[in-house]
Amino acid sequence: MILSLQRYDLQVQYVKGKDLILADTLSRNIDDSKPVTAEDCDPLWRTIEEVNVLQGIDIQSNLLDRIKQATQKDETCQILKLHIVNGWPSEKSTVMECVKPFYALRAELVIQDGVILRGNRIVVPAENRQDVLKLLHYSHQGEQATLRKARDIVCWPNLNDHVQNMVKACGICNQYKNCQQYEEKKTELIDRCKKNFSRLGVPRKIITDSAKQFVGKEWAQFMKAYNIIHATSAPYHHESNGKAESAIKIAKNVIKKALEDGKDIWLALLDWRNTPQTDGYAPSQKALGRRTRSILPVAACQLQLQTVDTKKIRENIELRKVKSNFYHDRKAQELPMLLRGQEVYVQLKPQKTSEWSRGRITEVLSDRDYRVAANGGSYPRNRKFLRDACTPIQIEESTVQESGNQTTLYVIR
Ligand SMILES: [Zn+2]
Repeated sequence: MILSLQRYDLQVQYVKGKDLILADTLSRNIDDSKPVTAEDCDPLWRTIEEVNVLQGIDIQSNLLDRIKQATQKDETCQILKLHIVNGWPSEKSTVMECVKPFYALRAELVIQDGVILRGNRIVVPAENRQDVLKLLHYSHQGEQATLRKARDIVCWPNLNDHVQNMVKACGICNQYKNCQQYEEKKTELIDRCKKNFSRLGVPRKIITDSAKQFVGKEWAQFMKAYNIIHATSAPYHHESNGKAESAIKIAKNVIKKALEDGKDIWLALLDWRNTPQTDGYAPSQKALGRRTRSILPVAACQLQLQTVDTKKIRENIELRKVKSNFYHDRKAQELPMLLRGQEVYVQLKPQKTSEWSRGRITEVLSDRDYRVAANGGSYPRNRKFLRDACTPIQIEESTVQESGNQTTLYVIR
């Protein structure tokens, strides 16, 4: 239809009904003598008639066949079909109980090739719902992510409850609520970075923690050759590297669950990359401007390039930052900034011992991260592992009024 309309330079203008004299007259002056055939119609109208939504949905053909067969047998689907073809009664109370949940959606329901559709979503008969639920939860995403994906593709009564119950009951999801860390060898890491950069382009800046694989000659040479700025956050303080930490956590969980479930980890990752996030965009859309084809049904229009509203994405990131800072600030102790050259006490091995060593600030990396010279070495450290050496520790009490409750805030100076 878009192609047919391209010939015209359309100007849309609102005209009141009473001023549409010609159209009104013609619509009442029908020649009843011969029946209207498809050939009599304007090709444009024929195109509109022939739009096949089902062709625009990419779905495994065997699943589609099973849905077709089940729709034929399913009583609810048959009653639904009758209503779609013959029209709905004006009162909801007069329709049968089983199709009542569809009454509010009646304007969106159509039949195509024996399948009932609600817009781009397939109305799945009861028989196939378990299979579809399994597909939707292929990469063991959480409740909300699985729901977002479901609402994109399929439709049936109580879909939300069914998805939520399935995720809650999933043994693999329960087993992997928290994930452990794993290490990657240096050369393998560089190799993997190169492969990804060849596909998606070279980033301007890489932010990492100061873990072993990111220090040393090899990594520095790689950064220089690829013209990348490398920034590090202090070790033992994963919050500074929060963005990467949370992405890794998600990816590792997806992979672990896929392995546990005997599934293809690449399909699981693909599935995750195509799952819309809270801002409405899937990771693939943010990186490539479109969804990518997977084994799940998808509307063809979503596979095409679309403009991504970067403003909306940024606003969402800012909003999340404000929220997380709010919660962080509420529990964080306020520590004053330190200056270059200042004498401090530093925890060199905060994970092993609470021992403090004497040192000096050699560089201010950010308002929370510093580089410290101590015991003949140089260490990047977060503010929470540093103490001003000039003043002895004292606890000063100040009270903050918070929604009627007295909250005590201890400030260490
Ligand atoms: Zn699961």
